Amino acid sequence: MYLHGTSTINEEGHLSIGGVDTVKLAKNYGTPLYVYDVALIRQRAREFQEAFKKHNLNYQVAYASKAFSSIAMIQLAEEEGLSLDIVSGGELYTALKAGFPAERIHFHGNNKSAEEINMAVEAGIGCFVVDNFYELELLEEAAEEHGKTLSLLLRTTPGVEAHTHDYILTGQEDSKFGFDLNSGQVEKAIQSILKKDCFNLLGLHCHIGSQIFETTGFVMAAEKIFSYIKKWNESFSYVPKVLNLGGGFGIRYVKEDDPLHPSRYIEAMIKVVKTQAEQLEINVPEIWIEPGRSLVGDAGTTLYTIGSQKEIPNVRHYVAVDGGMSDNLRPALYQAKYEGMLANRPKETAEEKFSIAGKCCESGDMLIWDLPLPNPNHEDVLAVSCTGAYGYAMSNNYNRIPRPAVVFVENGDAQLVIKRETYEDLIRCDLPLKKPVVK
Ligand SMILES: *Cc1c(COP(=O)(O)O)cnc(C)c1O
Repeated sequence: MYLHGTSTINEEGHLSIGGVDTVKLAKNYGTPLYVYDVALIRQRAREFQEAFKKHNLNYQVAYASKAFSSIAMIQLAEEEGLSLDIVSGGELYTALKAGFPAERIHFHGNNKSAEEINMAVEAGIGCFVVDNFYELELLEEAAEEHGKTLSLLLRTTPGVEAHTHDYILTGQEDSKFGFDLNSGQVEKAIQSILKKDCFNLLGLHCHIGSQIFETTGFVMAAEKIFSYIKKWNESFSYVPKVLNLGGGFGIRYVKEDDPLHPSRYIEAMIKVVKTQAEQLEINVPEIWIEPGRSLVGDAGTTLYTIGSQKEIPNVRHYVAVDGGMSDNLRPALYQAKYEGMLANRPKETAEEKFSIAGKCCESGDMLIWDLPLPNPNHEDVLAVSCTGAYGYAMSNNYNRIPRPAVVFVENGDAQLVIKRETYEDLIRCDLPLKKPVVK
């Protein structure tokens, strides 16, 4: 297993993260347990921002909080000077409860409800990333009701396909997200927004996909959008103040993954935006980005306790852990790949390959196939790295398994930031069956 961030093997020969022994964490907090390397999150947040600071332009780095949202995580994003993307009333509620400044919150989503929109307008969020014409109607109603002017970004789909897994592609034309650029929907939306006093159109947005390892897709998307800006500038003098190029920066889950340093993506974006703006002789727009995975993904590690095993001679050796698709849905959902090691004896030689099964009643509940390990037994703690994004966020109560706890570790200190769910929590919303009415 690759050691990300502050992960090392300590003097006791255990995996240590943030200066804290993971075997002790497993003992103190139980398993499954999500452990976040706070220093690594801070480092990533700074890498993105520093890449912008070298250039003289306005920018915002917004954490896409859907990757991992919790009060403490949002507070950490605020400490690091990030803005925040939210996609639902629940993510907005979390951000507001965390005390995050509303003016740095951007609201995404392809089906925001009137209720969610009202909540966001009342809170005074920074902008709505408008996805469709129906939303524009809802926004207009909300703006009038509250007597407010709403700042908007228009989500466009530029028809650029980033090389990644099909399930998580959102940038191509056949997408449920955003206004289509090629068919003229974006232009129609811009013109209708510009007519309304209740709207302040900040600019344009696109998000071309996820787990992207090249800069080409971002450059192509920006060029495509600028080819339209040229047209709009000539025909009705429209020039965006902000260009949001989305998130999707790749991280290293397994050794085949070869991500670029955050600065490489930013440099490429700045270059194309500056070049294009100069060609059109317009002001260079502010560049906004929205990293999710790349801020928190490699900072997360999940600890499990090894349980039962099943060996089918000459076929496969299954080793089950005390979690699975209830705490990490990505392998079952996307065939996502992970690396792992025994946290209590990471240096021992691997005897053979073991396939790590979850405990849910689904054959597809497999976390890692064919992982080389020293013969595991039920006293071992399995660490699975790089689970920080879309892990806890997608956790669920399938089989009525309580969600795990989450701890932040930094400088030798561990802090519980999400409590483990209890059985009592699981039935909190359940109501008993009505007694039959006797007539
Ligand atoms: C999911 C999403 C992001 C973050 O994507 P990552 O791959 O986690 O960086 C950013 N912007 C939008 C609009 C998204 O939907």
